Amino acid sequence: MSRRPNRARAFAPDPGADGRQCESPNCPALGEYRAPLSRQVLNQYRWFCLEHVRAYNAAWDFYKGMSPGQIEQHLRADTYGQRPTWPLGRIGGRIDPIKLDPEMLRDPLQILSAARDAERVRKRNEAPKDLREPLAVLGLSWPTTLNILKTRYKELAKRHHPDANQGDRAAEDRIKTINLAYATLRSRLAAEPKLAATG
Ligand SMILES: [Zn+2]
Repeated sequence: MSRRPNRARAFAPDPGADGRQCESPNCPALGEYRAPLSRQVLNQYRWFCLEHVRAYNAAWDFYKGMSPGQIEQHLRADTYGQRPTWPLGRIGGRIDPIKLDPEMLRDPLQILSAARDAERVRKRNEAPKDLREPLAVLGLSWPTTLNILKTRYKELAKRHHPDANQGDRAAEDRIKTINLAYATLRSRLAAEPKLAATG
């Protein structure tokens, strides 16, 4: 848990960048940030350095030629990749900025969060099969350690303790599930310390 990164900023380098160079002519920087090719081709990307991806995004009028209704529809679409970035000032006059999801502004294409989720799931899936569900219950990635497990369990036990939830039945069920997941992981990690990495 201690190594889990904080929420990435909107302009954190993309984990999919593999050392390629910025596509802007004569730019010597690494192309660590990606931007969609066009509205029609949202699953192909161009790769730029931070400065040039910002310039590219600012220049790209994604909503050009769309009616306010179509824009609104696009903003509400849930599909990954249908959430482009845009210069706020340009559509500010047509759509109330307060309606915009702040999450979209931080990670406009939801690429970063999608990549992080995929990475988390991938890591968890590398765990021994019988430990995957308990790990998911506790929100832990694999590998983990007894110390990480105990710390996480204490947090969850405190948060979901029935006394802290006015005797809510759902909270009781949650704490049972958490206890079971904790017991399973603890006994496996204690019995086979080599299962878990030291990190
Ligand atoms: Zn560049």
